[in-house]
Amino acid sequence: MSDQLRSSLPYLSAPMAGVRRVAGWMLDVVIPAQCLGCDSIVDTPGALCASCWSTIRFIDHPYCDACGVPFDFDVGANALCPSCVRDRPEYERGRSAVVYDDGSRGLILGLKYGDRTDTVRAFARWLARAGNEVLADADVLVPVPLHWTRLFKRRYNQAALIAHALGKLSGVEVAPDLLVRSRRTPPLGNLGASQRLTTMRNVIAMHPRRRRELGNCRVVLIDDVHTTGSTLRSCSRTLLKAGAGAVDVLTVARTVHSVN
Ligand SMILES: [Zn+2]
Ligand SMILES: [Zn+2]
Repeated sequence: MSDQLRSSLPYLSAPMAGVRRVAGWMLDVVIPAQCLGCDSIVDTPGALCASCWSTIRFIDHPYCDACGVPFDFDVGANALCPSCVRDRPEYERGRSAVVYDDGSRGLILGLKYGDRTDTVRAFARWLARAGNEVLADADVLVPVPLHWTRLFKRRYNQAALIAHALGKLSGVEVAPDLLVRSRRTPPLGNLGASQRLTTMRNVIAMHPRRRRELGNCRVVLIDDVHTTGSTLRSCSRTLLKAGAGAVDVLTVARTVHSVN
């Protein structure tokens, strides 16, 4: 990674980080930790109680080697799902920690729309586990960008929060503003594949000042949910065109339809 990109990474001074750590410790002592999913008291801050934990479906082998959709049964090493056989994504390895369903939806939407940023550290831990192979090869983590009007309204990009937490856990650097979204797009879930492609055309761009700084590195895109995959593919195309050596994808959750 270039020095210019490295120097753009956020920096927290050591004394301030110390103050924050002590304040966090004092809060932990005074206020008992609450489950991320309900009101139950738990031993550790940022954890789920046993009941909420049992509703989360963690994704493990076997899954599609390209997009990471879980298979109902093992179909051999490096197997691809029918969708990836027809049209392999531009990214190499897509991995997700949990299935996006009734068990995980509340937590995911809480971060996206409800200011529930206390889930971020748990999400990063889940991703560190699900994406350990991807992270071992990673040069830089890049969050999927929000359009600036959405960022203004929400005050944070949930993908960037996850990327920063995962960066801290894994030691991989984070480039929070490498990609930008040039216009707002409607939800893609109800559109057909070709409409999604047209809608996302030229929406994701490199930040004007970062355009020449990728230098063949291995980028890991970070997002909260993998639904249609169109935005992740659009980001991957932009990064590869800008000189990334390869792109992998890590999302906390993904939608799943039975694929075998
Ligand atoms: Zn709970
Ligand atoms: Zn697949």
